[in-house]
Amino acid sequence: MHYSLLSFFLPFTRYPYEGHPVACPGCGHDKSHQVAGIDRRLKRLSTAACDHCGLLYTNPMPTDAELATYYADFYRFDYQAADTAPKEKHLKKRHVEAANRVRQLEGLMPEKARTLDFGCGSGEFVTAMLALGHDAHGFEPGDTYGSHAQSLHGDRISIKGWQDVSYQDRFDLVTCFHVVEHLSNPVAALEQMAQWSAPNGLVYIEVPDLGKAHPNKGFGALHFAHLLGFNHHNLIVAAARAGLVPERIVAPTGIIFRHATADAELAESEAAKGLALTRRLYGDGKMVSNYFRYQFGKLTGANKRPG
Ligand SMILES: [Zn+2]
Repeated sequence: MHYSLLSFFLPFTRYPYEGHPVACPGCGHDKSHQVAGIDRRLKRLSTAACDHCGLLYTNPMPTDAELATYYADFYRFDYQAADTAPKEKHLKKRHVEAANRVRQLEGLMPEKARTLDFGCGSGEFVTAMLALGHDAHGFEPGDTYGSHAQSLHGDRISIKGWQDVSYQDRFDLVTCFHVVEHLSNPVAALEQMAQWSAPNGLVYIEVPDLGKAHPNKGFGALHFAHLLGFNHHNLIVAAARAGLVPERIVAPTGIIFRHATADAELAESEAAKGLALTRRLYGDGKMVSNYFRYQFGKLTGANKRPG
């Protein structure tokens, strides 16, 4: 408890983090510039914006070993303030989210679909798909949430990371909700999702939307666990590199993809739009000024969307 309070407020980092400089994890372009040097807890975190697609990403990127240490020792304290089994309130919220996501798939699914939830957390989406008669599976590397899911669904759930799990048969649908932003190698993960899904199958991705103009949290949206900050356009760019194109746009950064051969022209035009949006929202020191506007708006109620 003492540790988590200290860690929340003090402006220094205690994670082992040196990292290494990387090209854009989304589009592969090697030029970027720093838009923030701290995160929402005022800890040292260097965030860059790609000069090609506008993806926000941690640069230097933490190494796999540094990330493994962070998740093992710091993540629950730092992020979810919970080091035990998932709480009732958390489970209820996840249940509502799962129901909403299922609704977005209406009309796109065969009757008894084989589905895989990539990073299934405590398993609510698997539960929701099973309730509809689908053959649902999932995996989750986090032990506490994975164990909860496994206690509900047995060997339909693997407590493993995406690079360790394997499946014999393909899936009609692969879903991945609020996971890709945690990965240093998103295109490799998206390629794996494409490979696990059948040629006429779907891949449903949802990540936090850093392309939101209102209310824009500035560096208040940044966190050590979130290595990537997507907007609508650069999410499409990254997916295109894995052979995926939008089939249904659920939300700016909630997209159901299908397989298609790469369309270089589309990827270029989306990259240009992604960059323009990032420049508009985060260029010229706006990462910092937006943060203070957001905090002020929280106090005054000005963050509530008008109308
Ligand atoms: Zn890029």
